[in-house]
Amino acid sequence: MIYQGIADEIEFNTIPKEWQKTNLNTFSKEITLFDYQQDALKNALKLLHYYFNSLQKYDEKDDELLNIERKKKFFNEIWRIERELIDTLGIINKKNKPLFNKLKQYYPVIKERVHEKIHFLNFINRMSFWMATGSGKTIVLLKLIELLDNLKQSDLIPGNDILILTHREDLICQIKKHIEEFNKTAERKIKAWDLKKYDDVKCGNVLKQSLSDIWYSNKDLERMRNSSILEGKCGVCGYREVCGGCRGRAYAATGNYMAEEPFCAYIPPEAAH
Ligand code: SF4
Repeated sequence: MIYQGIADEIEFNTIPKEWQKTNLNTFSKEITLFDYQQDALKNALKLLHYYFNSLQKYDEKDDELLNIERKKKFFNEIWRIERELIDTLGIINKKNKPLFNKLKQYYPVIKERVHEKIHFLNFINRMSFWMATGSGKTIVLLKLIELLDNLKQSDLIPGNDILILTHREDLICQIKKHIEEFNKTAERKIKAWDLKKYDDVKCGNVLKQSLSDIWYSNKDLERMRNSSILEGKCGVCGYREVCGGCRGRAYAATGNYMAEEPFCAYIPPEAAH
């Protein structure tokens, strides 16, 4: 509700054009978004712009410390608007002991006079949509992924992974069905991976290992450096030792990181028939 109030105060047209590149109207050839669905996305965009631009501009070198600064500014802003509510929510052990005991395993506890408290600062960067059953939540969710992807591509927000959690298997099926529909016409396709396969599709984590460890120990990166197993026209190209094509683009276009580079205009003589 607090975020809704902040979003309502921001005129959508005041957001810079580079933040508005995503067409919010079209989901696929068959499906267009209703006004209320587009409004939900506009609110998300307004709040993201507010958080990653107005409060403290995001840049590629942003680290967690800078993000904490941003969170503090955001916290101060919403504390100014809803001081009473935030004070109440902050003192969790008084209101809901079981929840407090669970959360304290993950968040630092501070003491405030006789009360223990988990600071509301820890919870402020969560945005939620409440939408009625049958109102097209999945469509809004997938359009939001497209919107976030465009912002990440333009380095306007961090390039974090997106995790979808649902409590029912049929909802996963519904999401997959809508991803297929979306991908029929989308320029950049959505690829959904089972969380159990996460390690297979990620090369490593620079927060846990050094970059050189990842570079030399990861099997996928080792394969990518091996130009003799490149596929398609890259595999027969005389420039494959010095070029090799972009493995990221090959992966994005085909799901196979050893496939030929999809944007290269050069046709090696060996592949020209
Ligand atoms: S991207 Fe083009 S130039 Fe580079 S290896 Fe592949 S085919 Fe050759």
